[in-house]
Amino acid sequence: MSMNTQGRQTTPEAITAVEHKTVSGNRGLAQAEKLIFEIGTPRRSGVDFPKLKGVKPRLGTMARTDEIGLPGLSEPETMRHYVRLSQKNYAIDMGVYPLGSCTMKHNPRLNEKMARLPGFADLHPLQPRGTVQGALELMAELSDWICKLTGMPVVAMSPKAGAHGELCGMMAIRAALDAKGADHKRRVLVPESAHGTNPATAVLCGFSIDSIPANDAGRVDMAALRSKIGDDVAGIMLTNPNTCGLFENDIIEIAELIHGCGGYFYCDGANFNALVGRVRPGDLGIDAMHLNLHKTFSTPHGGGGPGSGPTVLSDALAPYAPVPYVEKHKDGWRLVENADGDSFGRMTAFHGQMGMFVRALSYMLSHGSDGLKQATEDAVLNANYVQASLSGEMSPAFGGICMHEALFSDAFLEGTGVETLDFAKAMIDEGYHPMTMYFPLVVKGAMLIEPTESESKAELDRFIDVMKALARRAKAGDAEFFKAAPIYAPLRRLDETRAARKPVLRWRDDN
Ligand SMILES: *Cc1c(COP(=O)(O)O)cnc(C)c1O
Repeated sequence: MSMNTQGRQTTPEAITAVEHKTVSGNRGLAQAEKLIFEIGTPRRSGVDFPKLKGVKPRLGTMARTDEIGLPGLSEPETMRHYVRLSQKNYAIDMGVYPLGSCTMKHNPRLNEKMARLPGFADLHPLQPRGTVQGALELMAELSDWICKLTGMPVVAMSPKAGAHGELCGMMAIRAALDAKGADHKRRVLVPESAHGTNPATAVLCGFSIDSIPANDAGRVDMAALRSKIGDDVAGIMLTNPNTCGLFENDIIEIAELIHGCGGYFYCDGANFNALVGRVRPGDLGIDAMHLNLHKTFSTPHGGGGPGSGPTVLSDALAPYAPVPYVEKHKDGWRLVENADGDSFGRMTAFHGQMGMFVRALSYMLSHGSDGLKQATEDAVLNANYVQASLSGEMSPAFGGICMHEALFSDAFLEGTGVETLDFAKAMIDEGYHPMTMYFPLVVKGAMLIEPTESESKAELDRFIDVMKALARRAKAGDAEFFKAAPIYAPLRRLDETRAARKPVLRWRDDN
């Protein structure tokens, strides 16, 4: 008998038993949950307010006459509703979360403890400067670490996500080109394997996209790149390691080619977890790069959690950096709020994600430079362990060693009738969040697995055993099993196309 990571049986007998529908819709001790509007009634409440006496409404004809329409629940009902919902959420605190390109690593509790210190947690961004000196110093110290780790002179701390950091970098590039009067430079080169946010950002900044194909080794095709170099090139947006999990070996030459035609080099730094302590992007000729503090530096993310995308800039782009930034003066730390000189302006209200700053600095300081380097090496080792262990049963997309994530194509499923999506659904039954699927687009039926450094060898071995068993089952011709998956999930296959095309965004009585 085999079990999934939550101890549930995954043998065929067990499946038939679970196929039986319960009267309640609950499964074992997992409760079915309706929307809060469906379980509440407007007449019920968790608190009793005395009836207002002697108050004259002053709203006149503007006063509400119909029901306010809020769900009404008692305190225990409210409690159960949210606890049940929380149990439906898969999280890195529950198990392996191998979602490639997302760096779902453990979020050390120390980070949380630091972020909850009242001196940080209770700050208000409009407090007088004299009362927030510690917070400003923390921002300056984190900036200093980021500059050291990336080998770059300047960092803009305010961007609130990776994609926002891309926008920051591309706005700085646009500002630099505008300052030179380089109106003809509007073409941005973007490799085919790029994250969708890259071309979107470039277009938002008024550039057009010119796509560069990948070569057989999953890297930028240098001949194609050379043929695209021209005077109208504004720059390149390159991810390194790229989204195939591979280091772009020609990166120095790429930087020279781009600089040679007067363009700027934007590097998508979402995969910095493979480089910290080993490679400094500044040494590679990069002009701008965002970091995802919520990926590399272990601040919680996913499911709407906050992000933070500090963006480092080279000397060439530093004058165009956005406000605000922290500066040391004789009388203490100051936040420079007004854009003068060449700064392209401001990207957010206030100064960025303070809570994420505290967590990221805690992570850096608790690891130290040796620990950060070790984390990088372990992340790369873990990915290569997964790639090597699975290469017999699954099909690695490219030869050779990978960086922090292992990429497979669906070649091993050919002729089985099982597709990448079916395979992923079967992983859910086994208690694993699926890997990233169908991305990058350059690989057919892509499966991108990023274990991160957080997983132990024992945990990786369990994951690998499950993946091998599923691959063997697919090849043995059991397509029906895969088409039926997930069987244990509270909801089985959802109509994802309809959900995307016709989303129901607002609850109404009649739906
Ligand atoms: C995650 C990611 C981004 C975008 O980061 P967000 O914080 O989600 O906006 C951009 N590029 C790559 C390669 C990524 O993995």
